[in-house]
Amino acid sequence: MKAFTHARVIDGRGGFIPDGTVVVDGSTIVNVGAASGVEILEGTEIIDCGGRTLMPGLMDAHTHLETTASNNVINEVAQYNLPTRTMRSYWNALETIRAGITTVRDVADIGDCVIAVRNVINQKLLPGPRIIASGKAINQTGGHASMSTEYQWSRPDAGGSGHCVDGEAECRRAIRTEVAAGADLIKIYVTSGLYDPFLGKPRDEFSQKEIEALCEEAANSGKKVAAHCHTAKSAKYCIENGVASIEHGMMINEETLELMKAHGTFWVPTTIVYQMMADGAKYGLGSSTIENSRKALVNQEKMFRKALDMGIKIGIGTDCGGVLINHGETARELECLNRWGMTAMDCIRAATSANAELLGIDSITGSVEAGKEADILIVDGDPLEDIRILQNQEKILVVMRGGEYYKDTFSGLC
Ligand SMILES: [Zn+2]
Repeated sequence: MKAFTHARVIDGRGGFIPDGTVVVDGSTIVNVGAASGVEILEGTEIIDCGGRTLMPGLMDAHTHLETTASNNVINEVAQYNLPTRTMRSYWNALETIRAGITTVRDVADIGDCVIAVRNVINQKLLPGPRIIASGKAINQTGGHASMSTEYQWSRPDAGGSGHCVDGEAECRRAIRTEVAAGADLIKIYVTSGLYDPFLGKPRDEFSQKEIEALCEEAANSGKKVAAHCHTAKSAKYCIENGVASIEHGMMINEETLELMKAHGTFWVPTTIVYQMMADGAKYGLGSSTIENSRKALVNQEKMFRKALDMGIKIGIGTDCGGVLINHGETARELECLNRWGMTAMDCIRAATSANAELLGIDSITGSVEAGKEADILIVDGDPLEDIRILQNQEKILVVMRGGEYYKDTFSGLC
């Protein structure tokens, strides 16, 4: 048994204990409370946190572990064969957990590399973060996930990040194929992206009937659906058909928010990506991408502030590995949303217990509570005072998942 004492405990559900004790037995948190109220059994290893912050491990609900940040993911995929991409996915998973992100939801894996990495981690053959993986995403011919190079636009059958399907029957077959291949959830692309070079602005892709078929088929298999979706029209079809989350949502409107509220749908804005794209000259992005991102951010901020007022469920995701942003940089999204009016406490709640609810693992992890997995961080400083501290790797002293240390620069300090 281990007891973390004299910790400022942020429990991930909005609770705070100024001088707390957290007792871990094996992989599980067994007791949490104010110092005076927690009994420490003889023989327990004491780790005196000395007033530092103890909080749940962060979660990222929108990663692409198979690729590293670049401005052209498809080119990167073309560069490496599958075994190399699988090994690189594992490396990215390690980078992620070392940075304090103990769980990710991976949403689009081109070669089932992330499924493979998830499997070996679940089998306890290799250490790593908890991964909830979508496997291949589902996308229409010529749709968002099948583009990125001029060649692919001229050859819509050239594929992309997953199943290229049209019509209800093919949509259903793609879902059945992914479920059979071991997907934990289903990722669908229902609109184009903001930066698709030949469109100029986001368009709706899958039809209402196709979205219905996709969602019904996923529900039949008990799988949640994450929908890459920018427009209000497609968001409406997705939400009405029960998707778990709208990803990005740059062009959504007030009706979308009302629907999200009524259906309990999560919004995962991944705004950090668009903020970087809006500043895209330094990353070699074209002027239309930069212009589109800037315009869309004005709407997204407005909608986000409304969503906060309305109590819409917000998930934290970064799209890391997709465009520009690196693995392990999840805390940058917290800074963006904090700037847009979300309190630091709510940012942490979104990245921990709310994300756990979105991922369907809230009975296992996502908070510092008795009975939960010991997925915890010790942070040198106060993220409630300054959320950016979670981006500073020197301040993340301890990363623990399921009672196992992935980083421990703390013991040397005390
Ligand atoms: Zn993505």
